[in-house]
Amino acid sequence: MAVNRMKMKRCGVCRYESFQPVLHSNFSSLSHQSRSIQECPRCGYCWIDIEKADNKTRRIVRSPTYAKIVKDEEMSLRERYLLELYIARRKRDYLSAFGAASAMARSYETDATADEKTKKEAVTRALDFLEKAVLSGQTKKVDWKELVKTQVALLRRLSRFAEASAKAEDAVVKAEKLIRDELKNVKETGRGVVFVPEKIPPLKELVAWMEVQKVLCRFKDHRMQPLTPDKRLRILDLGRRYRNRAEMREAIKRWHREYEKDREMADTSE
Ligand SMILES: [Zn+2]
Repeated sequence: MAVNRMKMKRCGVCRYESFQPVLHSNFSSLSHQSRSIQECPRCGYCWIDIEKADNKTRRIVRSPTYAKIVKDEEMSLRERYLLELYIARRKRDYLSAFGAASAMARSYETDATADEKTKKEAVTRALDFLEKAVLSGQTKKVDWKELVKTQVALLRRLSRFAEASAKAEDAVVKAEKLIRDELKNVKETGRGVVFVPEKIPPLKELVAWMEVQKVLCRFKDHRMQPLTPDKRLRILDLGRRYRNRAEMREAIKRWHREYEKDREMADTSE
């Protein structure tokens, strides 16, 4: 769940105080299901948290180029993301650039007036920044499971199905190895109670998630979020029950058939 609240914030560039949306979210840093962007009404500084600004940021925001992009009237969300993106690029902060670019991509996805080319360009830009962040070591603190989920989803959105599928498969192999390692630590107490290491459930969930992604790749389904909340729960459940790959494949096959049926229904109703 993500909740937007208004909070008094002092701008890190010009010290002006204003009420800004603050996101309380349990999503990890990479998922931008919802994301807030703040904008200082005086100097036009746009960032996820405008209280934070280093000297470099101050210089960028006070530059004539930035002043040229900032508009006097209220800016749209997309215009704010563009400013955030501009600052992040100038600072070579590729993870923040990815955040802004992916929020923009998401806003295009839900925009009925945007064409497919514009949407794909926006997703490509987000993925490019993410790759740059990976290459420059800026994603070291990001959970690898979250990272690979994001990469696979973006690749699939761009119809790069072979790459997405290969990446999903790599992630499954890695997760399965980690699960096997963790299982060595499983301890049985005297009463037959088994303590499962807490790292295992998220790894199982990842395996389920990736197997489903592979199914979507096989169907050449490029939609960013074809998974309804109900299906998400189903994936979590698949993950919980997962013991080995053969069993997982059986479960996915069942899901696959249902998915096919859903698709047929969706296709005929369109
Ligand atoms: Zn300001």
